[in-house]
Amino acid sequence: MKVYKFGGASIKDARGIRNLAQILSKEQDDIWVVISAIGKTTNALEQVVETHRPIIEDLHLDLSDTVYDAFVSMGELQSTRIVSAYLTSVGIANTWLDATHMVVTDSNHRSANVLLPETRERVREAVESRKTAALKDERPHCWVTQGFIGGTQDGEVTTLGREGSDYSAAVFANVLDAESVTVWKDVPGILTADPRRYSEAQLIQELNYEDAIRLAQSGAQIIHPKTIEPLRQKGIPLYVKPFFHPSEPGTCIHAQAPKLTIPVMWGK
Ligand code: ASP
Ligand code: MG
Repeated sequence: MKVYKFGGASIKDARGIRNLAQILSKEQDDIWVVISAIGKTTNALEQVVETHRPIIEDLHLDLSDTVYDAFVSMGELQSTRIVSAYLTSVGIANTWLDATHMVVTDSNHRSANVLLPETRERVREAVESRKTAALKDERPHCWVTQGFIGGTQDGEVTTLGREGSDYSAAVFANVLDAESVTVWKDVPGILTADPRRYSEAQLIQELNYEDAIRLAQSGAQIIHPKTIEPLRQKGIPLYVKPFFHPSEPGTCIHAQAPKLTIPVMWGK
């Protein structure tokens, strides 16, 4: 199984969703597809939450973050429905799975912490319960689920923090013992600097986990800083690849990559 993560910018329009299907149609392996909300949907849903906040506060209720997670999670729940329906319509066999029932978290709403052993169990159950005889014959198969969202043991919806879909992809890869994770982006891979600010930014072909964490923490807006740890635990490589040029190599983050020696110019 490979894990593919597609962000909001990649699926911001029908062209992007067609391109996603194009990438999946070429796959020979089973793919676990993790998807964000479409475009800037999460920001829009945050605005909806803001219209409720003064009322909740005026009533002296301690609910704001619970309400936030319930509203904001809809972005991913709907984007994955749309992508799954489109994949079906073009003949790509897929199963939609609800991450709020699989990614088990604590109740720290808006920034929940994932409980890995419980998540492993739920993911295994979700896959097993849908592996019907028919499904076993259809190879390869796509599993379509949401990034960024999870749920508590008692079934309350939670979110993992803004831009948390990369982290979700890494969590799924860890519990599935996936062979790799690919994060599809609108850049050629991880670069030495922000290409919008420095035209001389260069592609970094390989990075080890330590340098990747350092880069992510130094403000390189390329992967969520929490993404690396679940992958490092299992030695799972992470590819960052260009969404519209899928045959280009992009960047590979893996344990044996040499230490980064070229200067990087990312900063907060
Ligand atoms: N949709 C969420 C956000 O925009 C999660 C993500 O995109 O990673 O923050
Ligand atoms: Mg997003």
